[in-house]
Amino acid sequence: MSETTQNIADLYDRYVMPTYSPAVALVSGKGSRVTDIDDMQYIDLTAGIATLACGHCHPQVTEAIARQAGLMPHCSNLYYNVNLALLAQRLAKLSGGYKSFFVNSGAEANENMVKLARLWGRESGRYEVIVFNKSFHGRTLAMCAATAQEKIQKGFDPMPTGFAYADFNDIESVKSAISEKTVAVMLEPIQAEGGVIPADPDFLTALAALCKERDLLLLMDEIQTGMGRTGTFFAWEGYGVKPDAFTLAKALGGGLPLSACLAKPELAALLHPGMLGTTFGGNPCACAAALAVIDVIEKEGLAARAAESGRLLREGLEAFMDGHPEILEVRGKGLLVGMVIEGSAAEFVDACRGMGVLCCTAGAHVVRFIPALNISEKDLEEALEIIGDVLDERAGTEA
Ligand SMILES: *Cc1c(COP(=O)(O)O)cnc(C)c1O
Repeated sequence: MSETTQNIADLYDRYVMPTYSPAVALVSGKGSRVTDIDDMQYIDLTAGIATLACGHCHPQVTEAIARQAGLMPHCSNLYYNVNLALLAQRLAKLSGGYKSFFVNSGAEANENMVKLARLWGRESGRYEVIVFNKSFHGRTLAMCAATAQEKIQKGFDPMPTGFAYADFNDIESVKSAISEKTVAVMLEPIQAEGGVIPADPDFLTALAALCKERDLLLLMDEIQTGMGRTGTFFAWEGYGVKPDAFTLAKALGGGLPLSACLAKPELAALLHPGMLGTTFGGNPCACAAALAVIDVIEKEGLAARAAESGRLLREGLEAFMDGHPEILEVRGKGLLVGMVIEGSAAEFVDACRGMGVLCCTAGAHVVRFIPALNISEKDLEEALEIIGDVLDERAGTEA
């Protein structure tokens, strides 16, 4: 290929709306190794922002997509979609009986979960959903309102109504946010974009009890935490708390756009044909990919592996704390890990990329590591070594 990163950057400048600030043009990947257009190689600790649970180009996922693309790449919802049915069956088995509605993105899945909650609240005249400060639920207008972060909402006023705000890990704050309009509480079991902040087990248990007592639905956004990332297939399994409905996206489609809103059957029973809909949702290629991803997660024991690799990663990062007071905390669960630093997380990420490791941020001071669940020990160790070099270099330049 004769194109370079510079050529592509020029095309972005001229023709693409300036919504991102990408640094390199990735063109191929295998497992946890990726190559950019200038032939630079990287160890990828972002996995497409927690999307490629099985790594880049897992042969089983690639083959499932290619096969379905040759049969029928799209099938409208006017007809039965075979892969969609098989995927819903698989998810019901994994979750213990939840029913699925498939859409295309995380934000859209959350929108549909909120619609379902409003439908359930209609009879009692309730519609308001309590969400949490530092949450992230997506970028549609309603999910901007549900995302309690100023930088996400700023400039897009007025925000849709129907949300109330509480502090994460603070049950009293939830209690004071409840009104006669409240119908549900929605949360990420681990706030990811907001800084990798796990829910306290005690908080989640108390929240579930409070929801039961006050007749509120408990809604979980498992878009980043689901699909084995935190050591169990769904993060709620690890907490021993069952939501009334929850959403999956990111890793579900093996890199293709696919998301799902899953609800207990009694909740799903409020729907009838025509109430919810989508053109692309549950696309046959995306569902084929999802079936392959679930196969691989199960066969290769990737949830357990995420727990083990996550431990290695956290211990490796914690070991740096000794000589590097810049690191304030290492936290997370499984392979959703955040390293809180004193300085700029974005600068840290840039420095890592310059040395051959891709990671990302979760807020101004948190460096986030969300590699493929099947990352090898060797890749993880090599990445840690490079992160150590970056830390040394920063300590050197700051001194
Ligand atoms: C990524 C993410 C979303 C939004 O997903 P999109 O596919 O970008 O709409 C919502 N919630 C959480 C927890 C996420 O990590």
